[in-house]
Amino acid sequence: MSQLEIKNLHVSIEGKEILKGLDLTIEQGKVHAIMGPNGTGKSTLAYTLMGHPSYEVTDGEVFFKGQNILELEPDERSRLGLFLAFQYPVAIPGVTVANFLRTALNARRRAENPEDKGMPIPEFRKLLKEKMSMLKVDQAFAGRYLNDGFSGGEKKRAEILQMATLQPEIAILDETDSGLDIDALRIVSEGVNTLLSQDLGVLVITHYQRLLNYIKPDYVHIMLDGRIVESGGADLALHLEEKGYEWVREKYEETPA
Ligand code: ADP
Ligand code: MG
Repeated sequence: MSQLEIKNLHVSIEGKEILKGLDLTIEQGKVHAIMGPNGTGKSTLAYTLMGHPSYEVTDGEVFFKGQNILELEPDERSRLGLFLAFQYPVAIPGVTVANFLRTALNARRRAENPEDKGMPIPEFRKLLKEKMSMLKVDQAFAGRYLNDGFSGGEKKRAEILQMATLQPEIAILDETDSGLDIDALRIVSEGVNTLLSQDLGVLVITHYQRLLNYIKPDYVHIMLDGRIVESGGADLALHLEEKGYEWVREKYEETPA
């Protein structure tokens, strides 16, 4: 079983330290949720794990399959079996969803075996068909150009379909408020719940507690000022919904002298 192990992660943006020693381990088959007030560094964590060049890692390691992924390029991270959902996926006119998925899948196969000739097209069609029916996606979706005129819900659907096709061991989903209508929420959560049974490990970063009504987390972590300060089970999310973050702040925030 693979796990993603974040150790003492420090990250700065434009010289300002945002993540201040974050520790977290995500195992396959489990859902970890990170919650926290705005500006505590949740998206910074997601971008850093994705390998976004603006985020400078000043200390710490992130281990996955025996490698420190911080030393790898974003596409190498993905080929290793990490799925990093793009918050704002770009449109690729002229490339269909099916083409895109086949290219991504073959890149991942070659990373595991350099001799791999790629999945034969009939086999890929069969696989894609299976994944689409598993996720209840209309078959016509595969022929559409990637993200070209997609609604928020359709972008999420493409993302989840990509996840199902690539079969990563660990997925990191940063769910901002953008485009998270009920439809998108349902697509993401049904997809994640389906893939969980196939040993996917998930880190879901939520800005809204209501996502956790759909995806049941095994662990909930509260992030404050660039660190994880509290961890618990699903009940911690309910507690936050009821009580807010004030008690967390009172417990952990340093009061200025
Ligand atoms: P969250 O996702 O928890 O709301 P973020 O990770 O987006 O928090 O932001 C954490 C802090 O980093 C905030 O103070 C924000 O202003 C700052 N920040 C985020 N992105 C940038 C950036 N590109 N340039 C400068 N500061 C940034
Ligand atoms: Mg954010």
